Order: sequence, then C-alpha cells, then structure tokens
Amino acid sequence: MILSTTNKNLLISENPQDGKLTNSFADLYPLSILIAEDNIVNQKLIERILHKLGYQTDTVSDGIQVLKSFVKKEYNVILMDVRMPEMDGFEATHTIRQMEITQPYIIAMTANTMSGDKTECIQKGMNDYVSKPFSAAAIMNSLKNGYTYITQKKYNSD
Ligand SMILES: [Mg+2]
Repeated sequence: MILSTTNKNLLISENPQDGKLTNSFADLYPLSILIAEDNIVNQKLIERILHKLGYQTDTVSDGIQVLKSFVKKEYNVILMDVRMPEMDGFEATHTIRQMEITQPYIIAMTANTMSGDKTECIQKGMNDYVSKPFSAAAIMNSLKNGYTYITQKKYNSD
C-alpha cells in the first residue's frame, strides 16, 4: 500500500504555530541561510531545526566570518547571534547594511533575559529577532517573514 503524505505535510508546514518540523517547509519558503553563532550547543540546535525544515545551511561563529561569507555568497537570511567575539551581531549588521548587495533578512538571536536587546536589534538594522532558548515555531515564523521580505524586494526591483 502506498500512502502519499505530501499534501498532509504541506498543510502542516503552512501553520508554523504548531511547531511541527517538516522538510517541505524549505520547499514552500526556499531561502539560503547563514547561521552566525559562537556557542557550539546553540549552533548545533539551530542547525538541527533548520535541517529538519529541509534547509542546507552554513555556520560561522563571529561577525568577521559573516562578512567574509558574503564575499563568497549572498545569503537571503542571516540568523545572527547578537553577542559574538571579534565582531558582534550589531556591528556585522551595520557593515552589511552599507554593502552594495541584495540585502539579507537579518534575524537576531537574543537571550531572553536581555529585554533591551530586542529594541536595539531593530534600531540597529536587523529585521526581526528570536529569543533563546529557541522555539521552532518562532524560527519558522521569522523565516516566513524573511521569505516574504526577500520575494517582495525581488519583485520590486524587477
Ligand atoms: Mg554569543
């Protein structure tokens, strides 16, 4: 007996609120994603969530490496830790915003306890933020917003 689950998976992934991880999510919202996070445990966690959603990702651990990555490839989305060594997420964002590239959707990753960080993230040119500890539903929501942002910008510049 052959059971097709494709439609069912699509229905599930269209509702990020339920937090279910399915790799058809990346088919619905195709994005090239860079993860910038210095904490190994957090790196692995976010990679795991994104891979389960069907994304291929690259990971770096500081802001300098973010800038170097953009020389090689223009990512649609950066999941950017605010606090990193060498160059933090704010400074990396500031530099990227001055680059003549197709601007990525930057999602800040902030610690829950640092409530002032969230306002600062938006003020400093990030588009969105998710709080640590990570919720898959929050990440899916931000990626959906990122996809809308990227596709609308592309449409406007055509
Ligand atoms: Mg950090």
